[in-house]
Order: sequence, then structure tokens, then C-alpha cells
Amino acid sequence: MAGDSSRSESRGSDYSNAVTIGVLALQGDYEAHARAFASLGARAVLVRKADELEGLDGLVLPGGESTTMLKFLERNGFFRALGQFAVARPCFATCAGCILLAREVLHPPQQSLGVFDATVERNAYGRQINSSILTAETKVPGGPLEMVFIRAPRITRVGKEVEVLACRDGFPTLARQGHLLVATFHPEMSDDTRVQRLFLDYAYRNSALKP
Ligand code: GLN
Repeated sequence: MAGDSSRSESRGSDYSNAVTIGVLALQGDYEAHARAFASLGARAVLVRKADELEGLDGLVLPGGESTTMLKFLERNGFFRALGQFAVARPCFATCAGCILLAREVLHPPQQSLGVFDATVERNAYGRQINSSILTAETKVPGGPLEMVFIRAPRITRVGKEVEVLACRDGFPTLARQGHLLVATFHPEMSDDTRVQRLFLDYAYRNSALKP
């Protein structure tokens, strides 16, 4: 995604009707994600059922509570449909969403879609309100990146196919594996939209390849 920034630059921050981004809206911070993508000119639609995955150029799996999301996903084959979508189509998963996508979830172990080759420990930074804001170096062009952490998970292992784009204390906080982008923080809570644009660029280019 980051490798080919030429096309994203040529579209600037206006993806008007060129890209439709679904936002999984079962629970959690989906409204803020939808607003951020809409502000960049993408068509943002809320997704609550398996058949609403159809025709999307990309899907956001937001932060929230992964255990609650899993309960909703048990209904009507949604978990399975989401797994099939994530195998093939661009997904941007933040915090609880990252937990849903991971190959292995610990602390405690929990079911997941298993498509992103990483081990993720839930609530890894303590149990109290533990929100924090950190600004750190990133491979995403444009300088240090603000990262808002809320009861964040920690990525403790990544597979060979995973490119790490930012870290906290040496642990990945932003990472990409092919068509999947994950963050352990909440990009939708910062004014900086570079991470969303990175994802939109990928979804846009992927969409252009669609028959
Ligand atoms: N602690 C949540 C979980 O385990 C994730 C927190 C978040 O998404 N901000 O699912």
C-alpha cells in the first residue's frame, strides 16, 4: 500500500464515489470511523449483516469490545462470511478489530478469524482506565504519528509476511499483511488521517482491479 503512493497522491484526499468502505457496526467506535472516511470523500456504509459485505471495496473492523462483537457475529453465519471477506478483500482493523483478525489471541485465549498472522494479547497495558496518547515514528510518510490507546492489545508476534509500520516499546502498533492493515490504537480519534488514506489508497487500487 505505502509503496505506491502515486495514485493516492493523484486523488488527493477526494475519493468521491470511487471507493465504498464498509464499517462493521455491531458495537464500538464505528461512527467515528465512518465520519473519518466520509471526510476523505469515500462512500462509508455501516455493515450489520453478512449480505451487506457485498460490493464493498474495503471493510473497517473498529475498536470496541471483541468479546461482544464475537457474540453478534455468531448469528446467521456472519462470522464465517466475515472470514471469507477478510481472506480476499481489504480490511482495516483497529484495536478490538485487530483482535478479531489475528491468528492467535491470548490473555485470555479467544476465537478469532485468524487471517492476520500475528499473536495478540488483549488488555496488555493493565486493567485501569489506561488510555494513553503517544506520538512515535512511523514508516507512513509524513513524520511521527499520534496514537490513541484505549485498553489496547499488544501484538507480541508477527509472521514473515507482516510489515511493521509503527511500534510502542518495541511492539508493533500498526502493521500490514498484504490487503490487511491493523492498528492496536484508534486512528479515528486523531485528526491525522494518514492511516485512513493509506487504507483508502489500497482499497482504491484493489477496486480498480475488480472485474
Ligand atoms: N479491550 C478490548 C478487547 O479486548 C479492545 C479495546 C479497544 O478496542 N479499544 O476487545
